[in-house]
Amino acid sequence: RAKSAGGNRYELADPEADARAITRHGLTTALPAALDRGEFFIEYQPLVHLGDGSVRGAEALVRWLHPQHGVLGPDRFIPLAEHTGLIVPLGRWVLEESVRQACVWQDRHEDAGPLRINVNLSPKQLTHPGLVSDTVDILERSGLEPGALCLEVTESALIGADDDLLKPLRRLSEMGVDIALDDFGTGYSNLANLRRLPVNVLKLDRSFTQGMQQFPADPVDLKIVEGIVSLAHSLDLAVTVEGVETGAQAEQLRELGCDTAQGWYYARPGPPDRLHELALADATG
Ligand code: C2E
Ligand code: MG
Ligand code: MG
Ligand code: MG
Repeated sequence: RAKSAGGNRYELADPEADARAITRHGLTTALPAALDRGEFFIEYQPLVHLGDGSVRGAEALVRWLHPQHGVLGPDRFIPLAEHTGLIVPLGRWVLEESVRQACVWQDRHEDAGPLRINVNLSPKQLTHPGLVSDTVDILERSGLEPGALCLEVTESALIGADDDLLKPLRRLSEMGVDIALDDFGTGYSNLANLRRLPVNVLKLDRSFTQGMQQFPADPVDLKIVEGIVSLAHSLDLAVTVEGVETGAQAEQLRELGCDTAQGWYYARPGPPDRLHELALADATG
């Protein structure tokens, strides 16, 4: 940035930006050893059926217990891991660990109906040639049926996707793995384009739910959600909503025809046993 000031003029360094850069650099270089040392862990946030309020599964959300900085959220380090390529082994670990966890829930929950597991995939994982074989391998070794796994890909990762990029997703989809379009509504994808994508779940971004925070909800927001839901359903896509924070939102989203919800109203992301308890309470209560 100093360079772009041009000529012989120098800008004073911004100490805060420096601190951020050092931290970023420090975090980036610490990532590989962190993976070796097992500093990452996964929290699970329930996915709740809006019709009957039952817990149907969970989304796996990775965290880093950094020895100096404490717990770091994925927004702090996923972009760095994506940049260096470490996201490939890290993402593989997240997949393996959360699939293993899903098997534990299923064993403990025979009567509660199969609990599903959603795992986020980053763009670099999508283009990695091992994606399909690693996933098949992890599923086979764990014994989890492919239909219990949902891979979440952001809308922006698939914008302008060509057939080469879609091929591995299509393979996984043909095996029975669900593919969700994450953060839907934040990108600029052509709605008609949805037909081309091997996707069977739309995850409506939190920004839509936020628009419903005020009472009465913004009628334009409601119309948009209603339109997206009816388009999604006409294309045989299920709709999950993110960021549900109040009962009023949940009720409104249910009325608008959304299928599944996720958010603080139900539960914050938490340890695996917490999901087990929630699913169990739900099955017996
Ligand atoms: P995402 O996949 O859209 O995940 C939902 C995010 O919304 C999570 O943030 C979750 O904690 C947060 N959230 C859930 N309910 C509420 C709510 O009611 N209100 C509010 N304000 N927030 C809510 P988190 O855990 O910080 O994750 C951020 C993003 O990091 C995720 O967004 C996902 O894109 C990425 N991410 C997380 N884990 C992984 C991973 O294992 N691999 C990859 N590639 N990305 C990951
Ligand atoms: Mg997600
Ligand atoms: Mg999301
Ligand atoms: Mg989101």
